[in-house]
Amino acid sequence: MPIESYMDLSDLFRSDKIRAAFSLRSFNNKNLGDRGRLSTLVGLDSNHVVKPKQVHSAEIKFVDIPGEIQATDALISKSNSVVLSIQVADCIPLFLADPLNGIIGLVHAGWRGVEKRIIPDTVNKMVRKGGSRDGIIAFMGPSIRQCCFEIGPDVSKKFPIDCLINGNGDRSFLDLQRVATNQLIHSQILAKNILSSEECTKCNPDKYFSYRRSGEKAGRMISVIGLT
Ligand SMILES: [Zn+2]
Repeated sequence: MPIESYMDLSDLFRSDKIRAAFSLRSFNNKNLGDRGRLSTLVGLDSNHVVKPKQVHSAEIKFVDIPGEIQATDALISKSNSVVLSIQVADCIPLFLADPLNGIIGLVHAGWRGVEKRIIPDTVNKMVRKGGSRDGIIAFMGPSIRQCCFEIGPDVSKKFPIDCLINGNGDRSFLDLQRVATNQLIHSQILAKNILSSEECTKCNPDKYFSYRRSGEKAGRMISVIGLT
């Protein structure tokens, strides 16, 4: 059995209170137990996992108990008794944490959610729950980047022209990370606190699953974040 690889992202949040990880393609990703195992590897409790059913919505849930929950694409918590989790394969996994105020968020940000403004809405909800805009650190994990994210005119018309470059015919390449970054800046997150992986999931088949590369049969990478 191959070794399960993952990225420990905890240091990005500059606090002992925050632990976070992102699994690579060697990591099993089918069961709740896989999310628990990834959590344990970075010092979180495997019994604390919250697993949402992701539906490309702009729905955000504030959670304080573990378990599976319906139809939501963003989670927020202030409890050290939950580990937030999502899965992705090209969409942006957006990790959010305000270590000083002890509040975390995790967003499944594909183009549909970004267009529905799930990112600013999640930041605003974190602030309503006691977070501070200048204390929130944001990290965009590995996701499909402009090199590979070709979209048709029905989608491109929903996004700012400065985040698009011309593709074949009426198609365009979308820089979704730039759209997300602009939304974070407009939400008054400090530029120095907006971090991003530069890696494209579709361009790195040895490391990442990609829906655009493999279609329906693509596996998923797991994201987890929790307070200790
Ligand atoms: Zn690419």
